[in-house]
Amino acid sequence: MAAVESYPMKGGDGSFSYTKNSTFQKSASSAVQGLICSAITEKFDAMNFLLPITATTPSATATIRLADLGCSVGPNTFTAMQNVMDTIETKAKSLSFKNPQFQVFFNDHAGNDFNTLFTSLPFDRAYFSAGVPGSFYGRLFPDSSLHFIHSSYSLQWLSKEPKELLNKESEAWNGGRIHYTSAPRGVEDAYARQFSEDMELFLGERARELVVGGMMVLIMPCIPDETVAHSQVPAGIMFDLLGASLVDMAEAGVISQEQVDSFNLPIYGVSPMEMQSLVKKNGRFSIERMELTDPTSARKNNEGGSKTTGDDNTIANHLRAGMEGIFSKHFGVEKIDELFDRFSKKTIEFSDKFKSSIKQGTQLFIVLVKKN
Ligand code: SAH
Repeated sequence: MAAVESYPMKGGDGSFSYTKNSTFQKSASSAVQGLICSAITEKFDAMNFLLPITATTPSATATIRLADLGCSVGPNTFTAMQNVMDTIETKAKSLSFKNPQFQVFFNDHAGNDFNTLFTSLPFDRAYFSAGVPGSFYGRLFPDSSLHFIHSSYSLQWLSKEPKELLNKESEAWNGGRIHYTSAPRGVEDAYARQFSEDMELFLGERARELVVGGMMVLIMPCIPDETVAHSQVPAGIMFDLLGASLVDMAEAGVISQEQVDSFNLPIYGVSPMEMQSLVKKNGRFSIERMELTDPTSARKNNEGGSKTTGDDNTIANHLRAGMEGIFSKHFGVEKIDELFDRFSKKTIEFSDKFKSSIKQGTQLFIVLVKKN
């Protein structure tokens, strides 16, 4: 198992919890539900995985095993997995196959609040469930044991920060910043190398765990192409403003400059070209579909297109639910309120930047099928 740094989302159901502050991921996931349905309808290997109604053993029922990697505490994972199961069931019905049984594995780091996840499992669920603790950069399941893997907004988390970022002699030295947004090329290159190493591990392990013909759907934040600067997309703007808030705190003597210099967010937004070449390099999956989507499209549709983030403290709460852990560990729990207060004020001050940022194409949707 690879050693992996772990910063789970904020557990419980308090006001800063992930459960109460994951509407961005919810809308990001809704934006691709239709695409997931059509991928299953068109490409899921029902012939091999399901049993015909006429199967000779009357009690025989196929079991479809699904996993959600980086599921956090819910509720988004429940909705996403239910959508997958409903679509497989519809497909089974349309092909006169028996309704399969489903087993869903919810995976996240061991430090994830699995208690909240388990206690909020839908009451009326018609599937077997299990929690699987551990990093998805290591092995999680037996050989050829899964038929469907889903992972949404998790693979941007690197297994660790690239160590070169801390070396003052290196081109990747990242003093005064906490991310590669607005940083010299060498910094971004170091992140890209780490992502590529991590993805090699991820794809290698999943290739062993999925059955032949098994499907893997990945949804991740991305940049539309190499010509778009990271500082033009909402995530990049957030990381710049978080970095600026920390620099302000260092100037005010609340934290030290050295603490800022030695902190880097282990988060990477891949480009479609990069992802495509990593999948090809691994060689065990065919790319059935790859699309750039707008993570905010579902919300805009629901709210008549009017709502844009940046004009209240939703962004700060959303980011805090996901990142409080990593910042507390480095800067101390007692600094967190001030950090997110300052950050919240900056998101309001720079709300125009968010409004004019590029959202279309900042979410990568990719469907892979395991080859023979
Ligand atoms: N998929 C959920 C949660 C996204 S938050 C949703 O869409 O709402 C990202 C999750 O990925 C976090 O819970 C984090 O702990 C998890 N994660 C990050 N790196 C991971 C790793 N290496 N292994 C397992 N889980 C990981």
